[in-house]
Amino acid sequence: MSKSYLANHVKELQPSGIRKFFDLASQMENVISLGVGEPDFVTPWNVIEASYHSLEQGYTAYTANAGLFELREEISKYLQDTFSISYNPEDQLLVTVGASQAIDLALRAIVDAGDEVIVVEPCFVSYSPAISLAGGVPVSVSATADNEFKVTPEQIEAAITPRTKAIVLCSPNNPTGAVLSKEELHGIAQVVRKHDLIVLSDEIYAELAYDETATSIASVDGMKERTILISGFSKSFAMTGWRLGYAAGPVAIMQAMTKIHQYTMMCAPTMAQHGALEALRHGNESVREMKTSYRQRRNFVVKALNEMGLSCHLPGGAFYVFPSIKETGYSSEEFAQKLLEEERVAVVPGHVFGESGEGYIRCSYATSIKQLDEAMKRMNRFIKQNSKIQKPTV
Ligand code: PMP
Repeated sequence: MSKSYLANHVKELQPSGIRKFFDLASQMENVISLGVGEPDFVTPWNVIEASYHSLEQGYTAYTANAGLFELREEISKYLQDTFSISYNPEDQLLVTVGASQAIDLALRAIVDAGDEVIVVEPCFVSYSPAISLAGGVPVSVSATADNEFKVTPEQIEAAITPRTKAIVLCSPNNPTGAVLSKEELHGIAQVVRKHDLIVLSDEIYAELAYDETATSIASVDGMKERTILISGFSKSFAMTGWRLGYAAGPVAIMQAMTKIHQYTMMCAPTMAQHGALEALRHGNESVREMKTSYRQRRNFVVKALNEMGLSCHLPGGAFYVFPSIKETGYSSEEFAQKLLEEERVAVVPGHVFGESGEGYIRCSYATSIKQLDEAMKRMNRFIKQNSKIQKPTV
């Protein structure tokens, strides 16, 4: 072809750094993967059964664009019970194809060409590309280990310009596991209100907060009208493959998002919506059990990493740990590459989550204790055997 038919904004987009590593790992044998961001559990059986049953009953057609009304009612009830925020299922809720689509719709609904959107790094790999695809400009703010990877209101304020439209927050966080407390969210909310910004609040790990219940920024005074709350079923109910999420927010924004959704997606998959309905109605016990297991694994991994000399704070939520590998003298990429080659353990180099992730690796503990135990043994051996990372003798 003599001429490129690809749009410039797509040509400039870099493929995800996570995938690159997993393509490599998938060609090797005996690899323990601490890389993927998804539960190792199978979706609870009652959810699967409810979905089967809906198909047997002939529910195979489209639903309303915004999703099954019963499901929106159930989501509204869940948000009320969990965060004490009331959303009208008629016009303040939208069922989407994963939280991923909700993020995309939210950005496309609010971003004009050249608008700046603040992202707090290290962060989920999709935010900046989604902002760029919406025509916006991502502006990074770095959350650092000395503040347990929590962004401060001062840092956010320093990044605001007359072009700033919104800020993307994610708590509990991927990749650091950091959970912003009520007080910390109050501080951030003050800056957001002062500068008349919108918050895109990714709360997909809200059910996986281990030490204190997660707070939604939408529940802070004056924030419901400027927050797009995004969540979904992938993580808490082990439903990544079902592709089901949702957004809740002010009527005008939800109407705009629904309009885009209507023309580009029609509706989320009907059988998945029936499964989600069951998950919200009768899935609490399964969530509790998975959470208990994740908490044990988190404690196990954090202890093992610190003992082998990789300093690692205890993350409050999600299912990731983000230890420092700075003392080793390697870059994140080198460390992850060598660990994979020498010990067949796959982790994600921290820099793929933003520049401030350099010097760290992300390990997911959403895998069995047996696998985690073996992975920690291999990493320990890797650190001991690798001359470059032995502590200098004085
Ligand atoms: N947000 C965060 C922070 C995530 O980690 C992920 C999945 N890795 C998503 C959103 C996307 O979730 P979904 O499967 O619902 O699209």
